[in-house]
Amino acid sequence: MENSQSHTIDSSFIKAEAMRLGFSACGVADADVVDAHTRRIYEQYMAEGRMADMNYLANYPDLRFDPTQLLPECHTIICVALSYYPGQPLPDDTYQIAYYAYGRDYHEVMRQKLAQLISTLADTAGITDTSTHFRICTDTAPLLERYWAVRSGIGFIGRNHTLIIPRLGSYYFLGEVLTTIKQTTSPSTRMAACNNCHLCIDACPTGALHHDGSFDARQCLSYLTIEHRGLFTPEQEQLVASQPPPYYIYGCDRCQQCCPHNNRPTPTTLPEFKPHPDLHRMTPADWNTLTRERYQQLFSHSAVKRAKYEGLMRNIQCVAKQKTPETPPKPETPHITNI
Ligand code: SF4
Ligand code: SF4
Repeated sequence: MENSQSHTIDSSFIKAEAMRLGFSACGVADADVVDAHTRRIYEQYMAEGRMADMNYLANYPDLRFDPTQLLPECHTIICVALSYYPGQPLPDDTYQIAYYAYGRDYHEVMRQKLAQLISTLADTAGITDTSTHFRICTDTAPLLERYWAVRSGIGFIGRNHTLIIPRLGSYYFLGEVLTTIKQTTSPSTRMAACNNCHLCIDACPTGALHHDGSFDARQCLSYLTIEHRGLFTPEQEQLVASQPPPYYIYGCDRCQQCCPHNNRPTPTTLPEFKPHPDLHRMTPADWNTLTRERYQQLFSHSAVKRAKYEGLMRNIQCVAKQKTPETPPKPETPHITNI
């Protein structure tokens, strides 16, 4: 293995390269163990069962709370963000899919871009064996992504539990590179926060966001319509069915749509994240009669595949039982100065 002691890169160079590759934001953090406060909150979340049946979140605690164990001699965590906001959201008079799932599954797109970043950094540092000096994470390792994004100086975690990037918002995929390279500067992690705002808590139709800052996945439409396997219990069905129109059948964006930081989102320019051209033409009647073949056409490379055809139809059948009332106009998103 090459001597990692000699590899140091200016963090401003790393950020400039990331931006040149098309990332919307990049930050760099020193790799270290996760602070005790964050660990306590995470463990409490698990102990209280608020992660629903996502039991995999309890796996690999040694790695999750000490990312230096994910890559030997890891010194630095590079965090990047990639916009997924669609230029044209689905019409309000039909069923809704979370914005992030309109286009191609992001994992491969993110991985390819991070591989390009690694290539540049390896050349600059004179590293020939990238496998021992870099590790890409695209939600594929037990890493606290949003924690490290905050540590890297990209943004802060809002009351809606998303990573919010000042001036950009929260419609971003996150990715990381763990590396043995050292960086030269420490980011400032002091930045704007939610202050007195609680719009997302008010906007959540199921009460999944709490005023004490906690979150309960068991009540969240994103968990129920994406992660939950099998039939809904009567209580779960009630949560999904009782949401106000427009009805979400995969994920939910309500606690982001209302956020002042998403007042002027920047649409993605990546063709990979553009939806199938027919998605915007789907009516509730089309969804209600969706065949397996049509599902394959619409979502062949999409994250919607995670729910599988059966899961999506379960969600559709649940909301289809509702009598579709007139969709109220979306409230104006308040300006950022209101918080
Ligand atoms: S995704 Fe939807 S259901 Fe989940 S917390 Fe946000 S608003 Fe509530
Ligand atoms: S809606 Fe308000 S409270 Fe919620 S994340 Fe955005 S700024 Fe924070």
